[in-house]
Amino acid sequence: MEKVIEIQHLSKSFGAHEVLKDIDFSVKKGEVVCIIGSSGSGKSTLLRCINLLEKPSGGQIIYQGENILDNKHDIHSYRTKLGMVFQQFNLFNNHNVLGNCSVGQVKVLKRSKEEAEKIALKYLNVVGMDGYVNAKPKQLSGGQKQRVAIARALSMEPDVMLFDEPTSALDPEMVGEVLKVMKELANTGLTMLIVTHEMEFAKEVSDRVVFMDKGVIAEEGPPKQIFNNPLQDRTREFLKRTL
Ligand code: ADP
Ligand code: MG
Repeated sequence: MEKVIEIQHLSKSFGAHEVLKDIDFSVKKGEVVCIIGSSGSGKSTLLRCINLLEKPSGGQIIYQGENILDNKHDIHSYRTKLGMVFQQFNLFNNHNVLGNCSVGQVKVLKRSKEEAEKIALKYLNVVGMDGYVNAKPKQLSGGQKQRVAIARALSMEPDVMLFDEPTSALDPEMVGEVLKVMKELANTGLTMLIVTHEMEFAKEVSDRVVFMDKGVIAEEGPPKQIFNNPLQDRTREFLKRTL
């Protein structure tokens, strides 16, 4: 299967603190990969390095056969190929739901407002929020906001969707509706990289699970291996604490 993104020897330090150490990792087209691990293990930093919200300290990010960390590379066009969903939604509070899902398309992708709104509606329908086009974020529940954030990212029609603990800020009764949308997306063949603490979800949707510990990938493999038969003691200990 074709690799969408390949990371080689990626490292990231904040001052003297080495948060990511020599990470090798790739995502294939259509693959759903869940990243699990304790708080502070570097999961968010890894996602933020992949979409260049953080500048990696070393290593390579290969996209379409090129190292996008090469100075001459067009980082801007690379970033439009990655959709990001954050724990805290990060919606534009001054825009309504339709605006949230269309302004980026107009500004960044230079689509017409009309085309952008049509595409936005299509993805709002996918997440079940097409009935709320005129609502402002403050009128929505957490689960609804996160579904709009997912539609906004999808509206840019990225190659890969990155999710950083998309349900961690939600009230428990709203977690299910967001996970349901994500499961449906996983079944459409979308390429997804998901940091999550929802172990049942990870077990169910992942093609592959990556366990991070103290800035390294301690173990990766199919969900059956990671959850039922981990090879590493530290994976087993983490799961014992979590499940
Ligand atoms: P996780 O998402 O697995 O909880 P993070 O990637 O957020 O872990 O953090 C990994 C480590 O990097 C933590 O020790 C955290 O304090 C540190 N860190 C993350 N972002 C920054 C930053 N901007 N400046 C300094 N340290 C940071
Ligand atoms: Mg995090």
